[in-house]
Amino acid sequence: MEFRSNVPLAHYTTFKIGGPAKLFAEVSDASELSLGYERAASEYLPVYVMSGGSNILFSDNGFPGLVMRISDGGFRILDNGRVSAGAGKSLLEVVVACCQAGLTGMEKLAGVPGSVGGAVRGNAGAFGSEMADHVVSVKALNRRTGMVKEYKKDECTFGYRMSLFKRHPELVILSAELRLGTGGGDPKALMSIVSETQAEREAKHPQDAFCAGSFFMNPTVTDEHLREEFRHDSGKEPKGERLPAGWVIDQVGLRGRTIGHAKVSEQHPNYIVNTGGATAEEVLTLVSIVKQRVRDELNIQLQEEVQLVGFGHEEVKTRREKGENGFSWPS
Ligand SMILES: Cc1cc2nc3c(=O)[nH]c(=O)nc-3n(C[C@H](O)[C@H](O)[C@H](O)COP(=O)(O)OP(=O)(O)OC[C@H]3O[C@@H](n4cnc5c(N)ncnc54)[C@H](O)[C@@H]3O)c2cc1C
Repeated sequence: MEFRSNVPLAHYTTFKIGGPAKLFAEVSDASELSLGYERAASEYLPVYVMSGGSNILFSDNGFPGLVMRISDGGFRILDNGRVSAGAGKSLLEVVVACCQAGLTGMEKLAGVPGSVGGAVRGNAGAFGSEMADHVVSVKALNRRTGMVKEYKKDECTFGYRMSLFKRHPELVILSAELRLGTGGGDPKALMSIVSETQAEREAKHPQDAFCAGSFFMNPTVTDEHLREEFRHDSGKEPKGERLPAGWVIDQVGLRGRTIGHAKVSEQHPNYIVNTGGATAEEVLTLVSIVKQRVRDELNIQLQEEVQLVGFGHEEVKTRREKGENGFSWPS
């Protein structure tokens, strides 16, 4: 395991934004993670764990501590439609391997970038399918206690883009056991659903744009007038209490709005795109304009789905944990 200094984080994210990590290491299992935590503790550094980097905006100043990137992960087909995947395994690779083995149910998740760990933590979903539909159990390391525990699905308390692991950042996912359908899926037919899904995503928005996918979570909107407008506009029924954040942003006229090189996407207004050389500062300025306008005009409070890192919050959180970690911080 190699620790490197001053590693530019932009390179490790799909946004292509972010200054350097003071220390950086690629890790693949619990023992390497533990080594990282020990090293960080000995140097009084905060720690941030990432994987695919497809849901993160790092600050222009980077991260003043150790960033550990879970970059590897095994994959095994078990019995009765169950598979086991390491946290660092690419979600797409898992979807494809399952299709090729005739296991059904995850095809619509093809094209969600990033890792299995990131997808479980955020309960990633697309086209009506989400990770929670498949999770049997999740193994995670508790960075405070150093213990590894297996969480059964009902302990993972999944919700819309939410899980136990998102509520408890001290839990680092190591692997997940998933269950898929065994109804004799034809690998060729399953793979064509994968290709169609990828094509449908590409048609909605170029998937290789520099961005982090949907910037905001779809907000809960109870205003019946607005919900009716959405039905009329889109010809669709709202999904439960939520309306698409992209539609909401469009209502306040911010489609295409730019600040520097950061832009509210023309095709999908919930994507904020780095059109080339954008800074985190520009993205955040644009984000605050969007949030304020939506709040002022529609009385809706948008909440970021993308994780903002290196802007101060994590260091404070890590400092709060110092008592439990048993090491002290310089004052
Ligand atoms: C073009 C594009 C399209 C997208 N489309 C979708 C979509 O359709 N649906 C959807 O849900 N998302 C979508 N996303 C967002 C993103 O792909 C998902 O959120 C993805 O699951 C993040 O995984 P990751 O490995 O990249 O996580 P990262 O970006 O590396 O990390 C995201 C968060 O998860 C935490 N994390 C990462 N690994 C672990 C771990 N092992 N244990 C604990 N915490 C961990 C990090 O600390 C961070 O807080 C899209 C992104 C892009 C760029």
